Amino acid sequence: MKPQVPAVDPKRAEAVFEDAKPRYTVQQAKVEANRCLYCHDAPCIKACPTDINIPEFIRKIGTGNVQGAARTILESNVLGTSCARVCPVEVLCVGDCVHNLQGVPPIQIGKLQRFATDAAMDAGWQFFEAGKDTGKSVGLVGAGPASLAAAHRLRRFGHKVTIYEKGNTLGGLNTTGVAPYKLKADASLAEVEWILSIGGIEIVSNVEVPTQLSWAELEKKHDALFLGLGLGADSWLDVPGKQLAGVRGAVDFIAELKAKPVDLSAVKHAVVVGGGNTAIDAVRELLVLKAKKVGALESVTMVYRGTEAGMSGYVHEWAYAKEEGAQVSWQAQPIAFEGKDRVTGLRCTRLDAAKKPIAGTDFTVPADLVLLAVGQAKLGALVAGLAGVKVDKGVIVTDEAGATGRPGVYAGGDCRNGGKEVVNAAGEGRDAAEAIDAFFKAGGRRG
Ligand SMILES: Cc1cc2nc3c(=O)[nH]c(=O)nc-3n(C[C@H](O)[C@H](O)[C@H](O)COP(=O)(O)OP(=O)(O)OC[C@H]3O[C@@H](n4cnc5c(N)ncnc54)[C@H](O)[C@@H]3O)c2cc1C
Ligand code: SF4
Repeated sequence: MKPQVPAVDPKRAEAVFEDAKPRYTVQQAKVEANRCLYCHDAPCIKACPTDINIPEFIRKIGTGNVQGAARTILESNVLGTSCARVCPVEVLCVGDCVHNLQGVPPIQIGKLQRFATDAAMDAGWQFFEAGKDTGKSVGLVGAGPASLAAAHRLRRFGHKVTIYEKGNTLGGLNTTGVAPYKLKADASLAEVEWILSIGGIEIVSNVEVPTQLSWAELEKKHDALFLGLGLGADSWLDVPGKQLAGVRGAVDFIAELKAKPVDLSAVKHAVVVGGGNTAIDAVRELLVLKAKKVGALESVTMVYRGTEAGMSGYVHEWAYAKEEGAQVSWQAQPIAFEGKDRVTGLRCTRLDAAKKPIAGTDFTVPADLVLLAVGQAKLGALVAGLAGVKVDKGVIVTDEAGATGRPGVYAGGDCRNGGKEVVNAAGEGRDAAEAIDAFFKAGGRRG
């Protein structure tokens, strides 16, 4: 039976967001493609965690072979459609394009990739088919990019595949977390549907492993396992008032705005705590909601412990946030959430260059909503029942190919790399599938 891809709420808050990098027209794509130098030993390929043959697909676009271009991309990265929109290309392929060295604008690889892969999704081109049944079965935990990439490659090898997902949607953070001006939930789900159209990927939703389905049961059912658990809940600040209404995790808030309408009617001042990419995303998303007059938003302020030069978020993303009207308080340490039942302000103290509080510098930033973007929990503790799987600081330890210390158990994506990008998860899922296939071919048996 064909797995059902869940529907989205047309009234969800993200529906008002516009596309930050709209799709190229045929003419624009051709002009951009023809600027490529088709470099030998191309640095853009080396910068891509899924090794897409970028000059090859660009050449195909230049000659009008869009179908061939899409095949080249999706052969290396089956999530090439979402990656075209969500990859931080400025620090990956585009950042390494040789044109940068000549002071010429770099090739817009992401936009060209989007041109080709969107065409594939629209037309329903399916380049891959499931392999002949091998009689082997793999259980994958989590339905995010890592597991989807692994599942698709495993089906091409002919292995039976079942994905166990604790939530009621598919696509992981691509559906629930990525900023809507890059990728909306419906576009993510369309990609999932395309991936599932290879056939034979069974989805078991609303099942949390190992609480509702134990590792022992999973190992009994399957010949190998892939762990694509991602990261856990938003981390919290342990300061007075932390339980007040209006104090929320940033990832939790973003998941809500991507799934349903949000009520910001009582929110004039929003504050985001943190200086990483999730913090910048949350700031930019609130600024869009303010511009679209969703609720009563008047100001959006980021509060960060460090300096602008020391923030971990991407420089290009922060530059957009500033242009869009973000306010900021640098070197500010939250010390309390103020308010009776609901938060009304964030009390902070200034930090010196060594991040030590400076006496007598306390101040309050007005806030009816505070989003905490200070990290997410690591889920390594969940694998405690799998003897031999090592965990370091909450992250699952594997070899290069994704093998854990327990024969037949592999891992990829955020739960293994500690939290990187969709393209890393896609690459690690793909490579783990290759390793699982090699494990079966070598007659691999679990310990
Ligand atoms: C707010 C935000 C914005 C981001 N923006 C970008 C971006 O613009 N570009 C980019 O490249 N990357 C971005 N990322 C990072 C990117 O989303 C992740 O690197 C990527 O989704 C990791 O894929 P994954 O499959 O490892 O994990 P996830 O996408 O997190 O998927 C894991 C899946 O496993 C499920 N799961 C977890 N525990 C269990 C369990 N016990 N049992 C069953 N199922 C379980 C989860 O419900 C989830 O569906 C962003 C991340 C965040 C938080
Ligand atoms: S580095 Fe730039 S010019 Fe060279 S192949 Fe890659 S995209 Fe084309």
